[in-house]
Amino acid sequence: MPSPKTAFDVIVVGTGPGGAAVARELTLKGKEVLILEWGDYDPIRGSVAQTFKQILVPGKSLTVTSELLSVVRGITTGGSTIYYCGTAFAPPVEMLKTYGIDISTEAEEVRSAVPIAELSDELMGAGPNRFLDSARDLGYDAHKLTKFIHQNKCRTKCALCSYGCPYGAKWNARHFVDEAVENGAEIINHAKVTRVILHNKKAVGVEYKKDRQTHRAYASTVIVAAGGIGSPLILRESGIRSAGFDFFFDPLVYVYGKIKGLGNGKAIPMSAGVHFPDDGIVMTDFNMPHLMKIAFDLQVFKFKQAFSYKDTLPIMIKIRDDLSGEVTRRGWVKKKLTKDDRLRLDKGAEHARKILKNAGATDIYRGWLFAAHPGGTVKIGEQLDTNLQTRFEDLYVCDCSVIPQEWGLPPTWTILSLGKRLAKHLLAKDRAAPAENENVIPLKAAS
Ligand SMILES: Cc1cc2nc3c(=O)[nH]c(=O)nc-3n(C[C@H](O)[C@H](O)[C@H](O)COP(=O)(O)OP(=O)(O)OC[C@H]3O[C@@H](n4cnc5c(N)ncnc54)[C@H](O)[C@@H]3O)c2cc1C
Repeated sequence: MPSPKTAFDVIVVGTGPGGAAVARELTLKGKEVLILEWGDYDPIRGSVAQTFKQILVPGKSLTVTSELLSVVRGITTGGSTIYYCGTAFAPPVEMLKTYGIDISTEAEEVRSAVPIAELSDELMGAGPNRFLDSARDLGYDAHKLTKFIHQNKCRTKCALCSYGCPYGAKWNARHFVDEAVENGAEIINHAKVTRVILHNKKAVGVEYKKDRQTHRAYASTVIVAAGGIGSPLILRESGIRSAGFDFFFDPLVYVYGKIKGLGNGKAIPMSAGVHFPDDGIVMTDFNMPHLMKIAFDLQVFKFKQAFSYKDTLPIMIKIRDDLSGEVTRRGWVKKKLTKDDRLRLDKGAEHARKILKNAGATDIYRGWLFAAHPGGTVKIGEQLDTNLQTRFEDLYVCDCSVIPQEWGLPPTWTILSLGKRLAKHLLAKDRAAPAENENVIPLKAAS
């Protein structure tokens, strides 16, 4: 049932790392927060059926470009982090400083609030270890990656990271949402926000659909955190027509090789990697559940290889793509890889081939293309100021869409830090001018 209460201090739309971080911080400081989330709040079961429902529904969580590149996002409480690999890449603090944003303090605060560490040797699978040894042997600067994982809850020979971890070992943004709700935030699930309600160029609430009915909720501050695809759609409907163009999605490709007797199989994906910052390439091991591998192999007509699981070492190449494209009105992604994007993918795949060959692999082949980090659709410096505020007063955006330039990195740590920074800004603003803020909320007038 939608909440009978319709006026809050803050409305947060979406519960990925951006929405979850800001909702948690504000709730802990006593703000009345309403969270509106399009997806469900079902317990994570780690099942194939639930994965399909939350991340692979065409036109909702799965979109496919004209080049048949699949773009996925999680539509559930916790957003895409329910299905992410849990790799924690430190935010590019210096780059963001050039846009007038310093998140160095917040990045450290995130480090103490969530588990971030390299995997212990016991949790490193055979494939990741072989990748690491072979890459180092060839002189690559390969190392274990830091992960958002409670390692004491993690299991060896478990492949359920990619299906959402049912053991609570992989930290995800839902953990922050749970904390916010325990501390008094209200959450309404299956609530798809369509637009922001404005009064005198100030955000005063949102309109959302639930159970085929349109509802309204009001607050003095609205934070749109519906992700790189969801946020520009809401903003466009609210009058910010330039949102949703010239963005990145960090395309990726898997390169597989067969190593007889490897004994790989179930292991945590992205346990180790190499970063080539100048080339815009990240290369990592990438273990996946067998069913997923079969599906990916069939996409590229590798029928025989689909049944070779334990002897296969998959390597992922993720690149920093050029800004281009458009998010369509219905939430589909219109974007073509540029010549440079393809060259980067080829260059990365060549590194992977070398590492696989050196590891003793035969039958090396490339998989199909995917992308999982849509962002840069509502950029700092274009649609947003350095406080993440739009040109409408009290309307903020806080998610992957705010990133102002080409990317190519796991973004969660950065987004969490931006969420903490935004919460601090809002709290400081309240302290500075409480009377003024109270006067400015024309809730009744807006309804
Ligand atoms: C398979 C996969 C692996 C990944 N691996 C990593 C990794 O290892 N490390 C890393 O850092 N990142 C990884 N990522 C990326 C990371 O998960 C995302 O970049 C991050 O979650 C984006 O955060 P966000 O807040 O922008 O959006 P999201 O996490 O996508 O959250 C958006 C939220 O908004 C909700 N929403 C959307 N539209 C509406 C609407 N109209 N009304 C209400 N709610 C709405 C969605 O349901 C969702 O909960 C991975 C992503 C995927 C898919």
